[in-house]
Amino acid sequence: MYGDTIAAISTPIGEGGIGIVRLSGPEAVQIADRVFRSREGIPLREVPTHTIHYGHIVALGGGDTIDEVLVSVMRAPRTYTREDVVEINCHGGIVATRAVLDAVLKQGSRVAERGEFTKRAFLSGRISLDQAKAVLDIVSAKTRLGLEVAVAQLNGRFSDAIAALREDISSLLAEIEVGIDYPDEDAHQQNAIPAVDDLRVRVNGLIAESENGRVLAEGLTIAIIGRPNVGKSTLLNAFLSEKRAIVTEIPGTTRDTVEETAAIGGVPVRLIDTAGLREPGDPVEAEGVKRSQNAILRADLLLLLLDRSEPLTEEDRALLSRSWDRPLFVLLNKSDLEREIEPLAEDYPVYEISAETREGVDRLTCAIVDRLLGGQLPSHNSMLLLDTWERDLLRRMEKALAQADAAIAAGLSPDMIAEELRTAHAIAGELQGIDVGEEVLDQLFRRFCVGK
Ligand code: GDP
Repeated sequence: MYGDTIAAISTPIGEGGIGIVRLSGPEAVQIADRVFRSREGIPLREVPTHTIHYGHIVALGGGDTIDEVLVSVMRAPRTYTREDVVEINCHGGIVATRAVLDAVLKQGSRVAERGEFTKRAFLSGRISLDQAKAVLDIVSAKTRLGLEVAVAQLNGRFSDAIAALREDISSLLAEIEVGIDYPDEDAHQQNAIPAVDDLRVRVNGLIAESENGRVLAEGLTIAIIGRPNVGKSTLLNAFLSEKRAIVTEIPGTTRDTVEETAAIGGVPVRLIDTAGLREPGDPVEAEGVKRSQNAILRADLLLLLLDRSEPLTEEDRALLSRSWDRPLFVLLNKSDLEREIEPLAEDYPVYEISAETREGVDRLTCAIVDRLLGGQLPSHNSMLLLDTWERDLLRRMEKALAQADAAIAAGLSPDMIAEELRTAHAIAGELQGIDVGEEVLDQLFRRFCVGK
């Protein structure tokens, strides 16, 4: 437990008319008491835990009223940080919220660092490291699916799996160690084979889920290419009209590339409308062309749009015959109009759509999910949001288990098998946050915003 009391504004800056100033630490209640005048006339240090009180925050020395507030008092240990926590609900907007924060800072609390509340929750043992990360992922989730995955993790989906693994490795290790003490009973060693195999299946399952999660976290890039007027912007909008709920927009920075994020099958997808693939006419256009080319180079999938209601042009043919070196779908757009385009060689999957009426767009979405996500619509039960170092630890754990397996198969001494299992056991401990270094912690919690 820490000695000092921290304080921060826990609501987003500049949003809404309400702000919450949160205090946590041994002196949270006393500090709040010094600036709070309750209407009931009862000091906060005398109120029962988990109660809310109406009153005013006043400047030092009983001076001016700063804001009219509701104060929640929550005493340790049933709180987010397991320390005493006070939350002051101000309703004066940003200026008053800041003034309330200043008032409690002057009374002896200090400004919380980024993620410090959650860090304290972790250090007090209330949440696992994985759950702390889940809090962060929830705060920054881009799609509903991302949110569901993070919530499942907050509820312990990953940490429970790791705890179970660690326990099972521990029992297996105990059994093998019996074999070390009583070398005649090699039955222990024989029993270990299916047990190690089972552990490996479970670890590999977690690795696969974390790969799915990486797609979810990092998103995919789809570039829409085609000559002017074939309907690229219209298609972009057709994708965007789908599940707009939690989607961020990155406005285009040049006239030639427009980039937006949509959710396709729950996975965030950066859609890039690359308009400028023609020969550049001037330096500004050249810059646009360069950006478009870059967008194409990093795309996971290209959608080449053609206008089905017109014969192919030179430009269309040039785009079709180019070797793109990326997965590519050809889309025949404007299927609501009379067909004028000539039959195409089916070098690529071809889809007929109408970006305007959205006809065929759902089928295209399914094909994209198939192509990019291996046909499986992702669910929160099939993915984990892990950091690189966690994925790395999982791989090292799998490697140790594989070596234990090999040692058993080669009939090596139980000592060797036990050694590998001990390594796997230690890694599980690291994943649980039992043995993580200060550096990893700092790195993690720096990703949070202040007040979380
Ligand atoms: P871009 O230059 O490739 O981005 O093309 P736009 O999206 O601006 O579309 C060019 C024109 O084609 C616009 O007038 C659109 O309304 C029209 N358009 C786009 N998609 C369709 C479609 O599926 N059917 C029809 N009839 N018109 C379309």
